[in-house]
Amino acid sequence: MRLVIAMMKHETNTFSPVRTDWQRFQEWGAHLGDAARRAYEGTAMPMGAYLKLAREVGADVVTPVAAEAMPSGPVAAEAYEIMSSAILDAVRRGCDAAMLDLHGAMVAETTPDGEGTLLERIRTIAPDLPIAVTCDLHANLTEKMVRNSTALIGYKTYPHVDMYEVGEQVGRILLRAMKGEIRPVMGWARRPLLAQTLRMGTDDEPMKTLIAMARAEERRGMLAATVFGGFPLADFADAGISAICVADGNGAAARAAAERLMDATWERREDFLYRHEPLDEAVARAKAMTEGSILLLDHADNVGSGGTEDVMTVLREVIRQGLEDVAVAAVWDPEAVQRMAKAGVGATVTLKLGGRTDMPSIDRRGEPLEITGKVRTLSDGEWIVRGPMYTGVTVSMGPTAVLDTGKVQIVVVSRHHEPWDQGVFTSVGIDPRTKRYLLLKSRIHYRAGFAPLARATITCDGEGVTTSDNDRLRFRHVRRPIFPLDRLNEPPPQR
Ligand SMILES: [Zn+2]
Repeated sequence: MRLVIAMMKHETNTFSPVRTDWQRFQEWGAHLGDAARRAYEGTAMPMGAYLKLAREVGADVVTPVAAEAMPSGPVAAEAYEIMSSAILDAVRRGCDAAMLDLHGAMVAETTPDGEGTLLERIRTIAPDLPIAVTCDLHANLTEKMVRNSTALIGYKTYPHVDMYEVGEQVGRILLRAMKGEIRPVMGWARRPLLAQTLRMGTDDEPMKTLIAMARAEERRGMLAATVFGGFPLADFADAGISAICVADGNGAAARAAAERLMDATWERREDFLYRHEPLDEAVARAKAMTEGSILLLDHADNVGSGGTEDVMTVLREVIRQGLEDVAVAAVWDPEAVQRMAKAGVGATVTLKLGGRTDMPSIDRRGEPLEITGKVRTLSDGEWIVRGPMYTGVTVSMGPTAVLDTGKVQIVVVSRHHEPWDQGVFTSVGIDPRTKRYLLLKSRIHYRAGFAPLARATITCDGEGVTTSDNDRLRFRHVRRPIFPLDRLNEPPPQR
């Protein structure tokens, strides 16, 4: 048996000014051929699970590509073509099945439905090819994705700590189907709902209940049941919340289960909205707390959803109100890192920090923050994840420096990196457990590494292209009407 196993992942924020070319994939991880296998074998990624299953059944494995970029703007035509043609060529050379590790919210310059288009092109070459697909919890499911795959599943956790399990679950479904033990059929459903990412944490309501319902469907016989929160910042027709179920032979049962999950979701639509708090009040609330660790979330500049990671609004307010014993992860500013490297460890420097990137989609120019501090640490920014998310993967933040003002220690990086693991601090000599405040440019993923430390978490409404304030964003492509951009009491007829 010959299996094509590949990964092609990007969560596209169409409002982000950050360019997503092949170089950006290479910065996070872009491997072709055998290098793809070597990079992900033994990791807790869906691709790692696929490789393990393939070894168990003694399959020949072809790994044409494993590539992922941190979320950012639309994927450049060239990058999309490199990844998809690698997969298509491998399928063309002949295989018995494909196991794909995808995201499900990839908008490319050449197609708004990156995954659907890939799957459709695969099926054009090999119409009956069994295809297993994993998607992120933030996938925007499309008709094309469903029609052109055999079994599709998504993560049930946010932060995403079950990537390996879902890869294994859907991989086993595919192998059993190939042996003729089961006949997977899928049913899906959606509602016109653009949920706030900030309201999708699976330890919180409403997702907690919805995920429990999906698990209950699996206990009652579904081979897989998934609720996708969707990714609202990918402005294209199919953005939004959805559900998909894989049943053994009974398509009507799969559709009914997906509809049940979506009925429960629609009932809870108000719970998917985020309530705004003025920034000065949020920071003042934090200042009044003295027992650490207190997490301050700069969620509007969440690089893990396409933020530029150089918006200084929240940090400026934290400094203005005089909070002490703060560690910040991270500010993206390669030029500042270079200046600090030139000055050397121990030198005192005055910098214009951050604010390098303009954000035309929200009519905002980059605004740096003038700041003076001591260069505390210089590093190459490489470390291996030991925490529960992306375990075993090597992170590369690029040349990295720590600027210490006495009250605030700022990790300054040269490559975009969302702080979801304590390694972002420990790799540069900061012990996050001893800090009163941790200011994180993250939204929910920080929980993977930092929730165990947190006595309190305060969401700080700054500025940026991952804002939770829909009034700041000009949606042009998502299907309308859709809640909450339009106030809807009843969902209109679907699809
Ligand atoms: Zn996600």
